[in-house]
Amino acid sequence: MAHDPRDLICELCRQFYTQGWVSGTGGGISIREGDKVYMAPSGVQKERLKPEDLFELDAEGNVLKAPAGNLSACAPLFFNAFRIREAGAVMHSHSVNALLATLISGDEFRVTHLEMMKGIRGVGFHDELVVPVIENTAHEHELADSMAAAMEAYPKSFAVLVRRHGVYVWGRDWVEAKRHAECYDYLFEAAVKMRQLGVDAAEPPAQKAEAAQ
Ligand code: ZN
Repeated sequence: MAHDPRDLICELCRQFYTQGWVSGTGGGISIREGDKVYMAPSGVQKERLKPEDLFELDAEGNVLKAPAGNLSACAPLFFNAFRIREAGAVMHSHSVNALLATLISGDEFRVTHLEMMKGIRGVGFHDELVVPVIENTAHEHELADSMAAAMEAYPKSFAVLVRRHGVYVWGRDWVEAKRHAECYDYLFEAAVKMRQLGVDAAEPPAQKAEAAQ
């Protein structure tokens, strides 16, 4: 695996593309290294990105290096995770699993007793995993305030779902952000499929009380 953040972003975008997370030029990823932030431009084919296509910004969000194209509309949202949660990497996915998860949730997506919850930092099998759901807006950058409020209100969550849109996921570095993104997506898919089977993923499994004795 490459270690230059520019190479990493291109490689991760290709992987996320095959997972259906960044198709149709949507979604993306940003990595912070020291006091520099790297991110893809807006509206480009994420699976065809080259390192020289990436924007470079400072920790305050000022553009240091601007290639062709426009800065991503996700920039203020990525910076929310850098500033409020000290993230080292943030990814934004238009995964269908994330979208469907918002349709079976109110203000919160909840699951419990699922093994893959353990892939999220600080979460165990018997815990309840909660992800806040914010309402979508006409323009991506308008999500910034409600996303920041959700991050403050749910300090244990490493994701914010956006209704009928997708999800923002972060971690202390790209390795953790990628693991979190994969585990959350798995849990979103599992909860939706469980609902189709008539099982509520937010409810603990029924006790096998006397039966075993
Ligand atoms: Zn989006």
